[in-house]
Amino acid sequence: MKEIEVQNKQQYLKKNHPFGEIIKLEDKKKCIHCELVFLAGEYKVLKDRNGEEYICCPNAPECEGTVIDWINVD
Ligand SMILES: [Zn+2]
Repeated sequence: MKEIEVQNKQQYLKKNHPFGEIIKLEDKKKCIHCELVFLAGEYKVLKDRNGEEYICCPNAPECEGTVIDWINVD
């Protein structure tokens, strides 16, 4: 998996969320894999060998959490 640079993180998130959920960059999220609390805008995008892109936890690639593993934090 290779990290790729995203120019417009808000637009990318909107376009690529697996369930079409709208997440704002300033939303606070918690990764259920590594328990990191972060702002959604800190996400990373990793690309696998097949060219598939994944919205990942800021701790990626050490953490395998992706956007579907994030829960809301008040
Ligand atoms: Zn994580």
